[in-house]
Amino acid sequence: MCSNLQMSRAYVFGSPHTTLSNPALDGPVTAEVSDSQAFFESNSSVRFPSNNWDSKVDALLKQMTLEEKVGQMTQLEIGMVCSGKDQALQIDPAKLERAVVKYGVGSILNVKDEALPVDKWHQIIGQIQTAALKTRLKIPVIYGIDTIHGVNYTQGSTLFPQELGMAATWNPELMKRTAEIAAMETRASGIPWNFSPVLDIGRQPLWPRFYETFGEDPYLATVMGVATVRGYEGSNIAAKDKVASCLKHYVGYSFPLSGKDRSPAWIPEIYLREYFLPTFQAGISAGAHTIMVNSGEVNGEPVHVSRFILTDLLRTELGFRGMVVSDWEDIKKLVSQHGVAATEKDATRMAVMAGIDMSMVPSDYSFSDHLIALVKEGSVPQARIDEAVRRILHLKYELGLFESPMPDASVKANFGRPESRAVSLQAAQESITLLKNSNNLLPLAKARKILVTGPTADSQISLNNGWTYTWQGTKADLYPKDRPTILRAIEGKVGKQNVTFVPGASLDKEVNIAEAAGAARDSDVSIICLGEGGYAETPGNIDDLTLSESQLKLAEAIIATGKPTVLVLVEGRPRIIARIAERVNALVMAYNPSLEGGQAIADVLFGDYNPNGKLPFTYPRYANAQLSYDHKIWESGDTPFGYTALKPQFEFGAGLSYTTFEYTKLSLDSSAMKQNGELTVSVTVTNSGRRAGKEVVQLYVRDVVASITPAGKRLRRFAKIHLEPGQARTLSFKLRSADLLFIGRNNKPVVEPGDFEVIIGGLKDKFTLQ
Ligand code: BGC
Repeated sequence: MCSNLQMSRAYVFGSPHTTLSNPALDGPVTAEVSDSQAFFESNSSVRFPSNNWDSKVDALLKQMTLEEKVGQMTQLEIGMVCSGKDQALQIDPAKLERAVVKYGVGSILNVKDEALPVDKWHQIIGQIQTAALKTRLKIPVIYGIDTIHGVNYTQGSTLFPQELGMAATWNPELMKRTAEIAAMETRASGIPWNFSPVLDIGRQPLWPRFYETFGEDPYLATVMGVATVRGYEGSNIAAKDKVASCLKHYVGYSFPLSGKDRSPAWIPEIYLREYFLPTFQAGISAGAHTIMVNSGEVNGEPVHVSRFILTDLLRTELGFRGMVVSDWEDIKKLVSQHGVAATEKDATRMAVMAGIDMSMVPSDYSFSDHLIALVKEGSVPQARIDEAVRRILHLKYELGLFESPMPDASVKANFGRPESRAVSLQAAQESITLLKNSNNLLPLAKARKILVTGPTADSQISLNNGWTYTWQGTKADLYPKDRPTILRAIEGKVGKQNVTFVPGASLDKEVNIAEAAGAARDSDVSIICLGEGGYAETPGNIDDLTLSESQLKLAEAIIATGKPTVLVLVEGRPRIIARIAERVNALVMAYNPSLEGGQAIADVLFGDYNPNGKLPFTYPRYANAQLSYDHKIWESGDTPFGYTALKPQFEFGAGLSYTTFEYTKLSLDSSAMKQNGELTVSVTVTNSGRRAGKEVVQLYVRDVVASITPAGKRLRRFAKIHLEPGQARTLSFKLRSADLLFIGRNNKPVVEPGDFEVIIGGLKDKFTLQ
């Protein structure tokens, strides 16, 4: 089944239209996704357009000198062509001349260090392109930016929940819409290339980039990833509201053994393929034009020098035809950090020969100088250079940069539209996940006296996290003043006079806990807002997943008053809360819901919105007991002679509603499936409560016996549906033998005959694969 919205959109490949591809981005997404697989299939299997770029690229390549070619493979950060910083940033003509005219650099990236107004972006990029037009062959520069949750580096943009929160919506149609808006506003800023989505799988919650992922499950992340790529790229990346996407960070970045950013991952090939590769494979078949490489190492080999990962796997096996860019300074780090090359020159040779097409150098000209020398002395063949440059030029042609290199002033109006903001609110609302609600404490009555406390209660920084106006997202004065924090949104609901705010604790220090507890005693209910502040990448490293002592103490002091308590978590990774989770009456997980998040949280707390988010990861109870939901089946129980059981704080896929849903009549249309055959699974879902609500129906399959110890269950389908009170709906999902694949002992996918269980909403049935 396909939603109407989906069916009405036909992709036209190779037609170089430069008009808006989505003239009517018409506010909230009403379409539901009633079969994740149908969505996935209609959004993947995209072919690169058939066009005449190849002959143009070849003709241009023939005219290029070695220096010009290597220039195209070079990417510098904006400071290399500008002076000043923050709002005082401006093009430095001498630097620009050196970079773009003398060295002919192909690409520039990033901010320094604050988000800029649209006009300033137009001005800077216009000046860069004017310099490019002065060069012999007039090859435009491609500007790249991290549009991570909306155009976080342009002032006044529409921002959305971070990827982890978007995963909690389990709504790929909504994800696609947010990506369309992000693409529209990126292009409106004059920028055609977006370093997003992150398709790393979030299975190591210490990792400071956990919130940038779509969570722990390869299937959910695959469907959401495909939605994102299609939203960014549409049918023609030359359109004035589309950008080229960049799948990152290929591959294995997110599972470091120590939990620290950019530190070694130990991932045997069988698991690399089972858990970490599928998202990238799907992103490629959804048509993604570029890929960024993992800065870290997998099994002792930095990915930047892995010919196996960058060429054999990516090109030969996955058939990727786009362009591969390094991550920040990663060729240099082969010497300074990884110790696999003695000199930067050697590192350059190793990385280019492994498959890097463009180097994010980004702050000097070493890459160009070394690569020119390497080609001249015969250590890097000219053919490898031509291959890389061909991909870069192809991308520039497809983006329409040769036709219109200048930022287009006419699309500035696409920026920060009110209907885009409405989609952001919807996304925040759909992400909020209600994990506990003893005695239906929530929704709260509006007439009560409320204490609001905790360090994330009055913080836009916490609601947004990193990649917000600056890299770390921590400059409070850059945030818009008109978006309510949780505190302000609660005041809006019940009136300022009914709300007492006592901070109690900062993120890591006690402030006035006794005063907060006193205020709790005088209130009907306390809303305790805990979690994290802003961080991105390495500065976000932690040693202990446990929530800070000051915050736990604050919660304990409030709980000790005996008054009802609601815990709201605003955090980018699951900080351990076992000390308080059992003792609070209600618990709401908000992730990083962004600018509309305060409003969305208050809407849920006071029942103006019925929550429907579902946890996209397993929330651990103990810092040293982390495991994903698809662990082996026996890991859920104790053995007769010892303690084994994994008891997470909250399960993957968990999330409550203010109504109740009943699952009945699970049935399979056959008890057997043939190899290459299919089978239909049906289930009836009834809204048995008194409120309309949305439910995420999750279909899991368990392989009972397999040659590689099978997971206890694996998500294979999901659907997000809306049901009125009393309404029932029967959903049908087609399972195919391909859904039963796993990576076998020889690192190849296999399907093994035998028994399988289908699990939906606590119901189970069985079939046999023949
Ligand atoms: C990050 C990338 C990002 C790049 C450019 C790197 O440090 O790892 O995710 O795209 O910087 O800002």
